[in-house]
Amino acid sequence: MTIFCIGKNYSEHIREMGGKPDSSPVFFIKPETSLLLNNSPFPYPSFSNQIHYEIELVLRISSKAAIVKPEDAFRYFDGIGLGIDFTARDQQQKAKVEGNPWTLAKGFDHSAPISDFLPLSPEIDFQNINFHLNINNSCRQKGNSSTMIFSFEKIISYISEYITLRPGDIIFTGTPQGVGPVFKGDRLEGFIGEKKLLDFLIS
Ligand code: MG
Repeated sequence: MTIFCIGKNYSEHIREMGGKPDSSPVFFIKPETSLLLNNSPFPYPSFSNQIHYEIELVLRISSKAAIVKPEDAFRYFDGIGLGIDFTARDQQQKAKVEGNPWTLAKGFDHSAPISDFLPLSPEIDFQNINFHLNINNSCRQKGNSSTMIFSFEKIISYISEYITLRPGDIIFTGTPQGVGPVFKGDRLEGFIGEKKLLDFLIS
């Protein structure tokens, strides 16, 4: 399976990172070894002093998608969950300055904790999904899918123009504003609406 991640999909987050919005989605890939499941503790890696959290809505692809139109894209995913796109911000800054890829900064082991997926149902309005991240019981990030620059459908359509999506692939859809560092001992809890889907420790 492939883990796709969209960057720069919420304008307030683009602003906090000092960037500019793009006319089409920016995406990158994390390896399968970055997955962290079942709310297992996240082992803080030794090569960074600046691991940042980024909470994101995550889509699960349900059937093979190649060159899909945005209006058909809703047929190609069947679940929605939460993930943390852990980022070694110090390594990412270094890569940006040197013009190098972000693979190390974004794709290191355990950098992609994900929750279980909620099945799609008619009650879920994709244009209006609230989600938030608490750290040690205080809210650090809050987002709503209505404020995404590129919709779920646009994201699926865009990636599928270049790379075939396959069942079981997942897509991190970008983080809202409020990213920041985690520290050993922190407890992260992620919610869609009032439903808690993520609950794990930094170890
Ligand atoms: Mg991200």
